[in-house]
Amino acid sequence: MSDHLSSIPIINGSVRTRFAPSPTGFMHVGGVRTALFSWLIARRMQGTFILRIEDTDKVREVSGSIQQIQKSLNWLGIEWNEGVGIGGEHGPYLQSERLPIYLKWAQKLVDEGRAYADPYSQEELEAFRNEAKANKRAFLYRDHRPENPPAWDGTQPLRFKSDPKAYTWTDAVMGNLSTGPEAIDDYILIKGDGFPTYNFCHIIDDALMGITHVLRSQEFISSTPKFLNLYEALHIERPVFATLPFVMAIDGKKKLGKRDGAKDILDYGNEGYLPEAMMNFLATLGWNDGTEQEIFSQTELIEKFSLERVQKSPARFDEQRLLWLNGQWIRRLNLDDLFDRVTDFWPESASTVTIERKKEILALVQDRLKTLTDLPLLSSYFFENPVPNWAMADDNKQLKKYSHSELTDMLRHTVGALQTSDFDAETIQATLNQLLETTGQKPGVLFSMIRLAVSWAPFSPALNDTLATLGKQTTIDRLQRAIEAAAA
Ligand code: GLU
Repeated sequence: MSDHLSSIPIINGSVRTRFAPSPTGFMHVGGVRTALFSWLIARRMQGTFILRIEDTDKVREVSGSIQQIQKSLNWLGIEWNEGVGIGGEHGPYLQSERLPIYLKWAQKLVDEGRAYADPYSQEELEAFRNEAKANKRAFLYRDHRPENPPAWDGTQPLRFKSDPKAYTWTDAVMGNLSTGPEAIDDYILIKGDGFPTYNFCHIIDDALMGITHVLRSQEFISSTPKFLNLYEALHIERPVFATLPFVMAIDGKKKLGKRDGAKDILDYGNEGYLPEAMMNFLATLGWNDGTEQEIFSQTELIEKFSLERVQKSPARFDEQRLLWLNGQWIRRLNLDDLFDRVTDFWPESASTVTIERKKEILALVQDRLKTLTDLPLLSSYFFENPVPNWAMADDNKQLKKYSHSELTDMLRHTVGALQTSDFDAETIQATLNQLLETTGQKPGVLFSMIRLAVSWAPFSPALNDTLATLGKQTTIDRLQRAIEAAAA
């Protein structure tokens, strides 16, 4: 027996988890959540987190995915201690580079009479399936186990000779589970193309890499008894299994699809989401700490995360909640940090002003940003004169009850009052309050009109701050331009 076969590393006392994606496209929220939970467990227990790439299905492989996976984890701040890109003691970490290892283990099973060459053609297998269907029985390959299989020469699929029996096991999330012997079958270990199946090689790798906790999505739970049977045949001790519930669309009825937010995690970054918000959001997709707390920093997650509090029922993907969390996280950034992150999000017109002016404006709009892509809408009127658009007043809930001439009257009063006002935010507020009295208007009406006339934008920061930042001359010019445009 080779060294690999006799010396499975037992790395006692230290938690080792892994994320083992297949490079079949971009990383979506479900996949990244598995990575995050595995990483959190390792970090919480001061263990090791490993990135392994499961690239044995060459048909489904999409080129560039391995880089995408690494980029996605990097963006979120999930660092791995061993694995693809950085190496480690238990490599290689790319399954396609481990084929000789799998072949040795396969041969061991053959030698011990626990694996055999599959002699059947596709047509013959199809006939067995149809026969089972006609008899209303579940198809089991082992019902057709050949009596004298040919010697395995590597060109036929190699099948596991299973030992059908009932199993009871405990899943760290799903609790006690059990299945009968019907769940056990002779499955393929090595395909006809020489590549191992996931069902076989992940077990070898998890063992050789000393993985103590296997966290994976619910889609694998029905295969667990088959895996348990193979662990026994290989004399490998099974790790702790923790099955993560599905991530469903917001209606809770269907699995998350592209339209519900199952897109490339990196797109969220391009759309102005912060990795802190995304991590917070993913961590609370199916987990909470037992309190009402909603905002968790990375440090808090590492301190508090536990498998016991991962829920069994499917999680719902609520994009509105992600948006809310993002706004919360944007508020929490200090100005210089936020300034660095919005570099690519300024409107073009911002290039004409100084860094100091940009920061002043950013400070003003920070609390209103839900994503960084909101920045142009919230800030461009500080950099260029907006074109008056009275249709916006006609559509406004508060303003549409008034005629343009009533509204321009309000603006005339405003010009008069502001012309003699000092222009710091506090004095402006006092002037505006006084205007409410002299015009007898409600703030919802008067302030909405002023806000619109200086910005012609759907949102703006506090009115007095907005006017102070625009400055007296610009404010008055814009009010006047609004009055003229109404007459035109
Ligand atoms: N390669 C599998 C996938 O991408 C990993 C499953 C597992 O974590 O064991 O779905």
